[in-house]
Amino acid sequence: MLSDRALAAFRSALGADRVFDDAATRAVYACDETPRRVEPDAVLFPTSHDEVAALARIAHEHRVALTPRGAGSGNVGGALPAPGSVVVSFECMRRVLEFDPANRLIIVEAGVVTAEIDRIARSAGLFYPPDPGSSAYCRIGGNLAMNAAGPRAVKYGVTRDYVLGLRAVTGDGREIRTGCRTTKGVTGYDLTRLLVGSGGTLALITEATLKLLPAPASVATLRVCYASNRAALDAVSRVMQQAVLPCALEFMDQRAIDAIRPTGAADDLSPGTRALLMVEADGAAEDVPRQIAALKQALAGDGLLGIKSGFERDEITRLWTARKSLSHAVKRIAPLKINEDVVVPVSQLADFVDFIDHTAHAQQLAVVSFGHAGNGNLHVNLMVHPDDADEMERARLAHDAILLRVLALGGTLSGEHGIGTEKRRFVGREIDSPTLDLMRAIKLQFDPHGLLNPGKLFPD
Ligand SMILES: Cc1cc2nc3c(=O)[nH]c(=O)nc-3n(C[C@H](O)[C@H](O)[C@H](O)COP(=O)(O)OP(=O)(O)OC[C@H]3O[C@@H](n4cnc5c(N)ncnc54)[C@H](O)[C@@H]3O)c2cc1C
Repeated sequence: MLSDRALAAFRSALGADRVFDDAATRAVYACDETPRRVEPDAVLFPTSHDEVAALARIAHEHRVALTPRGAGSGNVGGALPAPGSVVVSFECMRRVLEFDPANRLIIVEAGVVTAEIDRIARSAGLFYPPDPGSSAYCRIGGNLAMNAAGPRAVKYGVTRDYVLGLRAVTGDGREIRTGCRTTKGVTGYDLTRLLVGSGGTLALITEATLKLLPAPASVATLRVCYASNRAALDAVSRVMQQAVLPCALEFMDQRAIDAIRPTGAADDLSPGTRALLMVEADGAAEDVPRQIAALKQALAGDGLLGIKSGFERDEITRLWTARKSLSHAVKRIAPLKINEDVVVPVSQLADFVDFIDHTAHAQQLAVVSFGHAGNGNLHVNLMVHPDDADEMERARLAHDAILLRVLALGGTLSGEHGIGTEKRRFVGREIDSPTLDLMRAIKLQFDPHGLLNPGKLFPD
């Protein structure tokens, strides 16, 4: 329970109009995309790095747990308040501190919306490659904490690959700077890479120096229909074995295709389509046709039903809007989505999806699979009714079996969503005890009293 003294100290540091402990505000900040709610004791809205440092020192002095929060679009409970904690919302830290096209970098505060960074970069012929499906509203601080990615990761990599340096505040209020503003630098330990993906458990990230790339002049999109999941995923494996790297290689199974039908994006699929790939190539205008020809060659094989190309810009947008709406669209199937974000080696994808189908059939469950197949990253969604105890138990068994299979295939439990509260009970299956102990020791160095995002990432 937040003491009056701590509350008064927060008010004096931030101003009374940016410290809220009323019921309505606490209710709004009680959840992220996961179906759980925990009301925080208060919500703080700092507007600068200095204010974040001040509030962290107050929290340290009064031993108040802090839950950092961007837009709350995370789907693993990362921004779900720990009981008795105070939410630190970065929504008011939206300044672009520097845009330096000559050196292809931008320095932003943690609350800047991801798509805004890309928009600014494009004004100078550059772009910011990480493109999570939520980029229109998620914030860069959340992306950094979760090492977010998106369809373009198959060619351009993930958030971590675009972070040159960070400014942050540790759990005991120390202000740190990591990295540099050049694209090379090996001075000291790489704390930037450590903080990215740490899920808000090591430091409150306040500012980021991000690397930008020249924007590709031309993009072409293919929509490829297959008769089965195996046919589509064997094609993914072939694509990833040849020289042309697509800038997107997305997979949808039959249920995912059904989920986007209301958008019209699946209106003219080849008859008998049971799996779909979305494939994109980018680069110099004169080179894209060569890339597309090579990709079509790799995509051809058993079970190919049709390739649609030559999309107009608004058709491409419609296709991507449909793909990006999937995360919410599948909720029409059942009220609760047990959402996995697993990764397996690309060559194992077809066998893995066969295993999922077999498991779903055996446990009589509706399972929807789609995702970033070029990285072997699948969003496996077990759609269930929480008031059906028998179905929930079957889902638990299926979920466990799927995760064990991922690890047996040499995969990993999370590709981009992170661990948060929802996946932490599985972490010990992938990371051995000595390694987890070392991670806990690192956490203590940054956050000696365990005040930053408690109850996240580590298993009990
Ligand atoms: C429709 C939809 C599509 C999505 N598509 C993708 C996708 O393609 N790829 C992908 O990677 N994810 C995707 N996501 C998940 C989510 O959008 C990402 O995890 C995103 O990075 C979260 O950003 P946020 O601002 O909403 O962060 P939040 O959800 O608010 O927080 C996420 C985590 O970051 C921590 N955090 C936030 N700000 C800070 C800070 N300044 N310092 C330290 N810690 C901080 C929080 O404590 C929490 O642990 C999707 C979600 C939805 C709803």
